[in-house]
This record gives sequence, C-alpha cells and structure tokens, in this order.
Amino acid sequence: MALLELRNVHTYYGKIHALKGISIMINQGEIVTLIGSNGAGKSTTLRTISGLLTPRQGEVLLNDKPIHNIPAHEIVKMGVAQSPEGRKIFPRLTVLENLELGAYLHDTRSDAYQNDLDRVMTLFPRLRERVNQKGGTLSGGEQQMLAIARALMTRPRILLLDEPSMGLAPVLVEQIFEIVQEINAQGMTVLLVEQNALQALSIAHRGYVLQSGEIVLENQAKALIEDPMVQKAYLGLE
Ligand code: ATP
Repeated sequence: MALLELRNVHTYYGKIHALKGISIMINQGEIVTLIGSNGAGKSTTLRTISGLLTPRQGEVLLNDKPIHNIPAHEIVKMGVAQSPEGRKIFPRLTVLENLELGAYLHDTRSDAYQNDLDRVMTLFPRLRERVNQKGGTLSGGEQQMLAIARALMTRPRILLLDEPSMGLAPVLVEQIFEIVQEINAQGMTVLLVEQNALQALSIAHRGYVLQSGEIVLENQAKALIEDPMVQKAYLGLE
C-alpha cells in the first residue's frame, strides 16, 4: 500500500488549470522526486498535498485515507510536513526557537522533544553551533537546513521538500542532498521537488516528470537518468 497517493488530481488557481489530472504514489521508505521546469506545477502539487490548495477533482490519500478535504493544520498533525520553497524560517527568532515552533504538536518539556532536538542537531551540526543565533542572520544554506530541521521536529511520516537546493552554492547543494539521503536511511519517506534534476534523481528511488501540469514520464530514478528525453530536457545532455 502507498503511504501517499494522488489519484487524478486537478488543481486550479481560479481559471488557471495548474494540475491536469496527475497520479503519483509514494511508498513507505522511498525518496520520490518530482522534476519539471519552471511553472510545471511542482509547488502546486506539494501545496495540494499539504492542504494549502484543494483539488477540484481527484483524491489525495494518506495511508488510503482521503485528506484532500482536511485543513492544512490537521494534515500536519497526520504526519505530513513540508519544508517550503524560499525557506520561510522566522528571521527574528533564534535557531532554537524556530525548532521549538516546529515541535508545537509536542510537549517541549518532554524527553521525546529533547531527543528530537538532539537528533536534528546531530544531522545538522551547524545548527547546534548556532542555537542562539537569529534565523535571519544564518547563511542561505543554514536557513535551508533550519527549514528542514523544523519540518522534522513535527515528527512526520513523510517529508515534502520544495527545491531544497535553490540558491545554494554547489558544495552546499551536495551537503543538503547527502542529508536528505541520511534522513531517508533513518526511515523517513521523502517527496523531493527539484529543478536540479540530476542530483535529485541520483538520490531518489523513483521519479516523475511533470510538464505543464501533467505527468509525462515515471520510472525508477536510474532509468530516468538514462532516458533520452530527460537527458535532453532536464539534464542538459544531448
Ligand atoms: P517553479 O519551479 O518555477 O517554482 P513550479 O513547477 O513549482 O515552478 P508552480 O508554482 O506549481 O510551478 O506553478 C504552476 C502553474 O500555476 C504556473 O503556470 C503558475 O503561473 C501558476 N500559478 C502558481 N501559483 C499561482 C497563483 N497563486 N495564482 C495563479 N496562478 C498560479
């Protein structure tokens, strides 16, 4: 059974038909990547899953249970966490305060909370060094780490990542992808939206290619890397 499934999902912004009947499934323990160019509908897909947008047609199922009519804050409680594009951390709050907000579903005096905190600080040692620094003064890469760490503090069953590599220097992109792989190796299911197709496909198990609101290709990540259409359109290879 899929942990998360989209069945024939249509999402609109007013009259704009952004998702034209997409079907995607993500199994427990997988990294699945959704690749596509600007405006293909990648962020719209994530917003539809996390409940920020409601599909006009089709279904979003978490463990076979429909969630597309459930408010976004309830969907977070059900174990779907999103680290949004553009990071959106709280700039005036410290690293620790940002992480506490991520843990708002849990008692911050509990041992479990301390364990969660310790776990994310171990994943991101940079954040441990900077716990009392204001979020807004972190570098771009560190803010991205904080956004992922904050999403993990909600103890999700699935982590939705919207372009985690955006705006980062190559060495940091590498680090972020390694961390995503590590989080997955610890058992987390990940849906990774990326324009950086080669790196995303290198760490993913499977992938979907989205073009103008439609899935045009789906396969094992290795096969997609070797697909001529993907190579030409998304990997810059001929
Ligand atoms: P990018 O990589 O540039 O972020 P994307 O694949 O995430 O692109 P989306 O942001 O999902 O693309 O946009 C899909 C389509 O929906 C685009 O044509 C976009 O112009 C349109 N769209 C997105 N947000 C809105 C909005 N708030 N109102 C109207 N149209 C929107």
